[in-house]
Amino acid sequence: MNSFTPQKHNIKAALHKLMPADSVCRIEKGMVRMMQNTNRISIKKDNTPIYDIVLAEDYNPFLKELEALKLAGRKVCIVTDSNVSKLHLNNLLEIVKDYARVVETFTFPAGEDSKTLATVEFLYEKLIQSNFDRNDMLFALGGGVVGDLTGYAAATYLRGIAFLQIPTTLLACVDSSIGGKTGVDFKAYKNMVGAFHQPRLVYINLAHLNTLDDRQFCNGMGEVIKHGLIRDIEYYEWLKGNREAILKRDPQALKEMVLRSCKIKQMVVEIDPTEKGVRALLNFGHTLGHSIERLMEFKLLHGECVSIGMVSAAYLSQVHGYLNKDDVTEITETLSSFNLPVSLTDTDIPSEEFLRVCFHDKKVDGNLIKFILLKEKGNAVIDTSVSREDILETVNCIKKTKLSEAICEN
Ligand code: NAD
Repeated sequence: MNSFTPQKHNIKAALHKLMPADSVCRIEKGMVRMMQNTNRISIKKDNTPIYDIVLAEDYNPFLKELEALKLAGRKVCIVTDSNVSKLHLNNLLEIVKDYARVVETFTFPAGEDSKTLATVEFLYEKLIQSNFDRNDMLFALGGGVVGDLTGYAAATYLRGIAFLQIPTTLLACVDSSIGGKTGVDFKAYKNMVGAFHQPRLVYINLAHLNTLDDRQFCNGMGEVIKHGLIRDIEYYEWLKGNREAILKRDPQALKEMVLRSCKIKQMVVEIDPTEKGVRALLNFGHTLGHSIERLMEFKLLHGECVSIGMVSAAYLSQVHGYLNKDDVTEITETLSSFNLPVSLTDTDIPSEEFLRVCFHDKKVDGNLIKFILLKEKGNAVIDTSVSREDILETVNCIKKTKLSEAICEN
């Protein structure tokens, strides 16, 4: 039996919580257009479409997209990593070579360790040796690491060339490929060097998700659950109700989930393309999440750290009188039910270290930490009143064995 339950979207209600009425009206009109063709989401800036997200189960609709890109006289370089190249590069290569004048490939070792300026330099060299000019394009085939690095190289090579996102991890499909944030790590500092550079197209081939291992798939669920928690309680409930189908990667459930998450990301990045305001809400779970990621020396995956960060932020929301204990316990259990970690029991790193790294994080405004808290489930707010003591207490909490018990004690 198919355990997947489609549900009517209630994005309008969520939007009203987020923004002024005139913006809601503008986006509602966009939503009507989107519903007419639910496999395509158009991202706009100042009401002008800048690129589309196309969602498909294979590469068939991609052919039309390639025609529209008018690649005939252009060179393309497909950038990917060592894992994805073995699984999905040949397939894409076969398709693109019929459309572009020349197709080059650039493969780097998989993993966050490669997201550096050194890898970008190798890519520049490849592009220079292949005489790439401003008319030529990069295709990013891979997860967030490939997308961020390729986007940054595209933003800077010859002061900017076009690029396409072809995300292959769940995290990249619903998050990193959308919104134009590109960049690389610098020494131990994550995403410290970067640029905003919008892709020409985001093409999501859902078949790619079938080759992801379970841990990587659930890693992406961290960002998916975040979307529900910050903006859309109905979506959050839908995710819980369809947990089994999602974890089995039922194609219909995946399609609806990726589409709904992409729409939430679309709404936020359209209102605030350069993260001056509301886009910061997407950082729910990331302030402590980034500290955990760094101090655990990247042994935990990004979405896993964000999961622990979300539990922390939920707890801080309780401390600030927004959520109650039951909400925090329920959020913790939901994350755990998607195989995401919710505590940090295996570390002897002092809690003060997490605090120190938090205050080194680039989201710190003066001496105030910009924390994203939940006013209620489905409604996140920016808060700058979280004290150092609150953060320390929270870290102490997530280092206990059973977080829900720890929360009840406090
Ligand atoms: P990743 O790119 O390292 O991919 C994870 C692993 O999965 C890698 O080993 C990769 O080779 C493998 N993989 C990718 N696709 C596969 C597939 N279809 N089948 C099998 N294996 C596959 O990591 P990620 O989680 O996709 O992305 C994390 C990165 O994204 C971080 O660097 C983070 O900073 C960045 N990020 C950027 C943004 C943004 O807005 N730009 C947002 C969130 C995260």
